[in-house]
Amino acid sequence: MQTIGLIGGMSWHSTEAYYRRINEQVAARRGGHASAPIVLQSLDFEQVRDCQLREDWTGAGELLAEAARRCEDGGADLVAICTNLMHKVFPAVEAAVSVPAVHIADAVAAVAQRSGWTKLGLLGASWVMEESWYRDRLRTHHIEAVIPGPSDRAEIDRVIFEEITQGRFLDPSRERYVATMQDLADWGADAVALACTEIGLLVAPDQSPLPTIDSATAHADLLVELALAPAGVAQAEPASG
Ligand code: GLU
Repeated sequence: MQTIGLIGGMSWHSTEAYYRRINEQVAARRGGHASAPIVLQSLDFEQVRDCQLREDWTGAGELLAEAARRCEDGGADLVAICTNLMHKVFPAVEAAVSVPAVHIADAVAAVAQRSGWTKLGLLGASWVMEESWYRDRLRTHHIEAVIPGPSDRAEIDRVIFEEITQGRFLDPSRERYVATMQDLADWGADAVALACTEIGLLVAPDQSPLPTIDSATAHADLLVELALAPAGVAQAEPASG
């Protein structure tokens, strides 16, 4: 199988989930002692967060592009950014390497399409919910996104950065997320995209009022599918239009 390059550490709590999921899937599909060849570049999230707060997306893009190059230098055949928000600098990462970069929103869309869902609630960092780049990527797969109202968006974002990316998973925050998911269901969402890689660690599928797509799980599964595909077949491309 091909070697998977992971750009992680944003946060390490979800990178751990990627590592586990990828290996579990490879073991399940190949059996025996099979495990995934992985090159992991685990960044210092403090540095990335500092760029975010200064809105220095060029600097953040350089940090991730360097990590992508180190993945390729280490033998990765494909690379992935293990966070939704940092796909804001996906073009810089994609341009930095000669191997394919696998976009997390393509993985989310693939799960939605398999289930016949065309309208997804979108929960993630403010930049993910409020800017158009993530929703535009979903739209290339003919998936529409619906986002929470302003005060809920602010609270979703606060919990991401003050709690779950620091490994704190609190009951009142889980309850607030579930209430917001109920609103999204009432507004016609078929399912909710957990477009922050730690949300699935806070809200389990059976706690959600509507089906969930955990972006970390979806991304890990797509990486395994591509890495195990026969040589020359594997490319995840956004659909046109
Ligand atoms: N892991 C989160 C995400 O998937 C946020 C962390 C970050 O990249 O800032 O968007």
